[in-house]
Amino acid sequence: MKVWISFDMEGVAGIVDWEQCTPGSGEPYNLGRALLQDEVNAAIDGAIAGGATEIVLNDSHSTMSNLDPRRIAGGAQYISGRLKPLHMMQGLDDSFDAIFFVAYHGAISGRPSALSHSYNPELFSAARINGEYVGESGINALVAQHYGVPIALVTGDAITHDDTRPFAAGAVNVVTKESITRFSAKNLHPTTSCRLIREGAERALKKVAGGDMPTPGIELPARLDLEMQTSDMAELATWAKGTTRTGDRTVRVESGSDNLLAIFESFMAINYLARAAGGR
Ligand SMILES: [Zn+2]
Repeated sequence: MKVWISFDMEGVAGIVDWEQCTPGSGEPYNLGRALLQDEVNAAIDGAIAGGATEIVLNDSHSTMSNLDPRRIAGGAQYISGRLKPLHMMQGLDDSFDAIFFVAYHGAISGRPSALSHSYNPELFSAARINGEYVGESGINALVAQHYGVPIALVTGDAITHDDTRPFAAGAVNVVTKESITRFSAKNLHPTTSCRLIREGAERALKKVAGGDMPTPGIELPARLDLEMQTSDMAELATWAKGTTRTGDRTVRVESGSDNLLAIFESFMAINYLARAAGGR
């Protein structure tokens, strides 16, 4: 069984501040990445216990090289580094049997979730798929659905699970913390969090093996609506394929077909293009 893992960082038990997940911030980041490494390794160990024979990790946070490769468990392969065309979804294809979203976080538009955002918070204040508000997990589900691979495990705070549930109906959800605000949470002890992630990963793959894990099920043809932080950004966004202006600060991305990957690729183009409009 082949497992592909996209891991972020904000959903790790014990992480509540940008300093803890910003490369270059010194001691706080070193602690954050150690906590992350343990949770990713717990997911790998659980995957192997659940029957995984090949595991690929895609580092999806910040500079996307947050792990010490020497400490990666289970001989997993590691996609790291910046400017990957499919960003948080790089490396997924239809040869995989299951997706894990590890250390994910809530949407910028929703209830308080530790360090919530939806891709670049300087650009996007909200995103909707087929009219429903989504976070990164929902946007990333476009690619999961395109390749027909189910999201089998999600780890992060409770809001993250609420955000992801519409796209991962059968997923095992591991709650690592209860967010209080965007910068505070009641965290599980790291040992407990890692144990639950290990157990959850194993259980998730057993469900996949039993045929009990649906793919995201996004209705076609799909549309992605984005609320940009400024009207300049919305104007630049219209340069991406399939993107039209729907308001002063809003744009809509449609593929004109059932191609969900095309919608995601246009979203990535907007993510890179719109920052040229400058900060708020
Ligand atoms: Zn992140």
